Amino acid sequence: MADTSTRIAPPHLGEPYLLTPGPLTTSLATKEAMLRDWGSWDDDFRAMTLEMRTRLLDMLGTGQGDFDCVPMQGSGTFAVEAMLASFLPKDSKTLVLANGAYGKRSVQTLEYLGRDHVVLDKGDYLPPRGEEVAQILADDPAITHVVAIHCETSSGILNPVEEISEATYAAGRKLLVDSMSAFGAIELQPSEIRYEALVSSANKCIEGVPGFGFVIARKSELEAAKGRSHSLSLDVHAQWAHMNKTGQWRFTPPTHVVAAFLEALRAHEAEGGVQGRGARYTSNRDVMVEGMRKLGFETLLKDRWLSPIIVTFFCPADENFDFDRFYQLMKDKGFIIYPGKLTIVDSFRVGCIGQMDEHVMRKVVEAAGASLKEMGVTDATPPAIALEERAKLAA
Ligand SMILES: *Cc1c(COP(=O)(O)O)cnc(C)c1O
Repeated sequence: MADTSTRIAPPHLGEPYLLTPGPLTTSLATKEAMLRDWGSWDDDFRAMTLEMRTRLLDMLGTGQGDFDCVPMQGSGTFAVEAMLASFLPKDSKTLVLANGAYGKRSVQTLEYLGRDHVVLDKGDYLPPRGEEVAQILADDPAITHVVAIHCETSSGILNPVEEISEATYAAGRKLLVDSMSAFGAIELQPSEIRYEALVSSANKCIEGVPGFGFVIARKSELEAAKGRSHSLSLDVHAQWAHMNKTGQWRFTPPTHVVAAFLEALRAHEAEGGVQGRGARYTSNRDVMVEGMRKLGFETLLKDRWLSPIIVTFFCPADENFDFDRFYQLMKDKGFIIYPGKLTIVDSFRVGCIGQMDEHVMRKVVEAAGASLKEMGVTDATPPAIALEERAKLAA
């Protein structure tokens, strides 16, 4: 892999690195792209919107001709809600595959929307498997759709979307994917993995700033979505039809965020697209996980399920360890980490995405080692119950 040390700029003006899964550390060029104003109606901005949509579709590879890209104002959740409301018919029944906070959020969204659904809830971090999906679909012919989370950011698990997709289409149902934290770094090519729509946002693996999400969907699904949404502002069909007709967003677009995102998309291409981005994040993860393990930390997940997006570590059992203090000590050294989201044992998370490379990740490990010393923690081994939990997860 090419040495990226000269290309990755340290954060501006001594800002800390954000080891968080979005907002994340962006490049100076991406931030600088926001230093002017654009009229939303003007040709220049319409061209920017079109270039952005085209570049996003290009990431799908050969199968992209059947798809179109519809940006949506708001954070990622707004785009998820827009996708679910627009592509799930009112008389549909959906199987939601949940193994963390974002799966649960899709369930909650369906409750708000009043769309019939069942949930396969795998708890905090166990993956939903293809055989389980096949069985549930065989047992319940009323189910029409499956919703899967690509990388469940709350544990960092990379869910097996390929086998989920195979089971879904083998049973003649349709798949919608929340690829929020994976799209742009992990391939999701429709020629390899079948799905009807995916959703992601500006501030994850493309390394833009927060402000909008986007839905990438089959044109046939976009056509069929007409008149289906419960919401004026989240109506994907209406946004799509208006954008294709006028080149404009229906309501005030986040102009500066789009400008920053375009800059980030150009950098993404220069890095080698999805493959190049994924390779850097994978090396970030490998260097960081190896170093943390040397310090005695243990990951929640076994290697096969670790995503190159974010990694959950158990908190050490040592009574001198205190997460809030650890957080502050890491921040003092220039790194913002993320609290964990597990219900059974204490944990924290370290993100691998954003403008960081393996050199930065080595410094993260050094900072973690120094912070343990400052707290008087001599051993980062987690409590026995944490390791018992992990033993439940198949290799
Ligand atoms: C970030 C993220 C979302 C959206 O979260 P917002 O806070 O609304 O941007 C949805 N799903 C997953 C898997 C995510 O990582």
